[in-house]
Amino acid sequence: MRKPVIAGNWKLFKTSAEAVELVKGILPLVTGATNVEIVVAPVFTVLDRVSSVISGSNVNLSAQDCFWEAEGAFTGEISPKMLLDAGCSHVIIGHSERRQYFGETDETVNKKTKAAVAAGLKVLFCIGETLDERESGSTFDVLKRQIAGGLAGVPESDLCSIIVAYEPVWAIGTGKTASDDQAQEAHAFIRGEIKGLYSAAASDAMRVLYGGSVKPENIAGLISRPDIDGALVGGASLKADSFAALVNAAQK
Ligand code: PEP
Repeated sequence: MRKPVIAGNWKLFKTSAEAVELVKGILPLVTGATNVEIVVAPVFTVLDRVSSVISGSNVNLSAQDCFWEAEGAFTGEISPKMLLDAGCSHVIIGHSERRQYFGETDETVNKKTKAAVAAGLKVLFCIGETLDERESGSTFDVLKRQIAGGLAGVPESDLCSIIVAYEPVWAIGTGKTASDDQAQEAHAFIRGEIKGLYSAAASDAMRVLYGGSVKPENIAGLISRPDIDGALVGGASLKADSFAALVNAAQK
């Protein structure tokens, strides 16, 4: 049985006071969600503050990115061990906004993923096709390439530290959600790729989250599908009541 995951990507929102207010609002609303891996991903500068607030709770802390080196002359970067030091247990890698605006490639995603897992972080490994790619019928080729490239050299024994997030780029922040059928089809494909690259056991155990305009109104249909194990959520994670509603829907 795969434990569902609900992860909130706060993107470039929330000052420290706002982040603390948000997480303090979330905590009392999700205490009953014992069967959900709950994750929040604020900006780097507030990780430490949020970490103090969630200490001892059922909410886990994630960063939104990391570099692959542990330390060195890499101005502006942050390493997996620094994220651990700030209280993180998770890190998002390969988000489409990083691929689109910051030059992230399958190769850099791969280096970051390996470094983060080696340091002891769980990776929310993001993949997904653009609208053009979907419309030209290359969705599965893109997913195949992103999975093979991003996970190259990752041994099966490390897959327990990886959670795949399927996020069709055309559904992120647009209000357009993939239909339950479209999402399930992509998730089943992803699970099949993991099976082909690794094993049936690895594929069965892998959590595959859906991301793209997930809201309390559409989570139930998505999460009822056999290959959808939760959600990576942007907009709806920025309010305590909507994020908690998603967590509590996953608990059911
Ligand atoms: C995301 O940022 O990963 C995301 C899915 O955003 P939204 O829920 O706002 O589409």
